[in-house]
Amino acid sequence: AADTEKVNPVAKIKVVVRKRPLNKKELAKNEEDIIETLSNSLVVHETKLKVDLTEYVEKHEFVFDAVLNEEVSNDEVYRETVEPIVPIIFQRTKATCFAYGQTGSGKTFTMKPLPLKASRDILRLMHHTYRNQGFQLFVSFFEIYGGKLFDLLSDRKKLFMREDGKQQVCIVGLQEYRASDVETIKDLIEKGNATRSTGTTGANEESSRSHAILQLAIKRSVDGNELKPPRAVGKLSFIDLAGSERGADTTDNDKQTRMEGAEINKSLLALKECIRALDNDQGHIPFRGSKLTEVLRDSFMGNSRTVMISCISPSSGSCEHTLNTLRYADRVK
Ligand code: ADP
Ligand code: MG
Repeated sequence: AADTEKVNPVAKIKVVVRKRPLNKKELAKNEEDIIETLSNSLVVHETKLKVDLTEYVEKHEFVFDAVLNEEVSNDEVYRETVEPIVPIIFQRTKATCFAYGQTGSGKTFTMKPLPLKASRDILRLMHHTYRNQGFQLFVSFFEIYGGKLFDLLSDRKKLFMREDGKQQVCIVGLQEYRASDVETIKDLIEKGNATRSTGTTGANEESSRSHAILQLAIKRSVDGNELKPPRAVGKLSFIDLAGSERGADTTDNDKQTRMEGAEINKSLLALKECIRALDNDQGHIPFRGSKLTEVLRDSFMGNSRTVMISCISPSSGSCEHTLNTLRYADRVK
């Protein structure tokens, strides 16, 4: 274990909170910024009413690995979260970066640029540090919607999951594209993102109910032979989770919505348990709780790394959702 630590000096679990700025809609409604941030802690100022209807403020303090305020750029988010884990995926490690939070909190805004920035660094390592060592980069992009898998790089083709005998997860039919330059990756990411948001009931509505999973896989040709199938080395997954508030849709009038809400609720609970198990080295990982955790099964095993980016709105109107997000992040930590 001591040796592994030397090779991978990156924390197993890192929990970061990102606060976005107040938007026009919130400003128009005179909503206030209730989040006070410090470098690795924050305070939520919740306004409550006494029995005699006078207002008072209750403060909730949380401490995380880092708190990124509304002035922090996407570049800085990358440096704080994903950049440190890029080199270790060349060392047989699987790493996952999640964006968690209510719809509109900034998950997609935060997540979208990360895979491209990571690919840039991965290709740089492949072309310099690991030059001529047979490493290859592959991209895949799919979503989980209502417990079912769809390929975002292949017109939402329905996919099925299978486990091989060696505890490896295999998604049957998932398109994996080999990419040797940033332009190719950029095109793939754009294609997947476009496919994701062209749902039937409007962009934000659909995407808020699905988990989008983009994976960068590092493989290596066997004995320098490009004709043989390359061997898997490491994997970096980026997961833009369904809106956390959707897990509460279990009392909706629409049956479909209720079922989707239940599935989202189940997957977010199972995810929390799996990340916690990773930290405790329990051996037993409760991944069977949901499609999301089953698909990510191999990313919760052994020497994996997890970064959770919890996105929050600063506005008074989102106070309850924000507290829920922070409590979730606090449990993962
Ligand atoms: P989510 O994916 O969680 O539903 P989005 O990422 O779509 O939320 O963000 C909602 C809106 O807020 C978008 O218009 C987005 O551009 C904007 N936004 C989110 N985070 C930031 C930020 N840190 N700085 C500026 N605008 C942001
Ligand atoms: Mg989104």
